[in-house]
Amino acid sequence: MDCIFCKIVEGTIPSKKLFENEHVIAFHDIQPAAPVHALVIPKKHIASINDVGPEDWGLMGEVLRAAQQVAAETGIAETGYRLVNNCGSDGGQVVFHLHVHVLGGEKLGPLNG
Ligand code: 5GP
Repeated sequence: MDCIFCKIVEGTIPSKKLFENEHVIAFHDIQPAAPVHALVIPKKHIASINDVGPEDWGLMGEVLRAAQQVAAETGIAETGYRLVNNCGSDGGQVVFHLHVHVLGGEKLGPLNG
């Protein structure tokens, strides 16, 4: 499958990893939008939040748990951070392998700003 994030999971595309376990990995975004900008993904190819099946919610919990750990380990947990999931065209999704952005390290603007 021609998926950039599956290639990152396989290791055929390099990434700066922040976290990895059997089901989830997290790595630095290649084009950071904040001082800390990580991506947390399930290793399983799920295209978007629309494609999460009933069997995947435990895995989604693992994704959120990894995001919490990444925030703690990058030093942004105390001051705060934002988790973002873009879904589909109107949502601004570019890579169709489900991912959660972890953004922080500065005061982020309001969502309606
Ligand atoms: P989306 O818009 O789909 O929610 O976000 C995709 C994100 O993936 C973007 O922030 C983009 O910078 C990041 N990205 C795209 N290709 C790569 C890559 O090859 N390596 C890494 N580390 N990040 C990537």
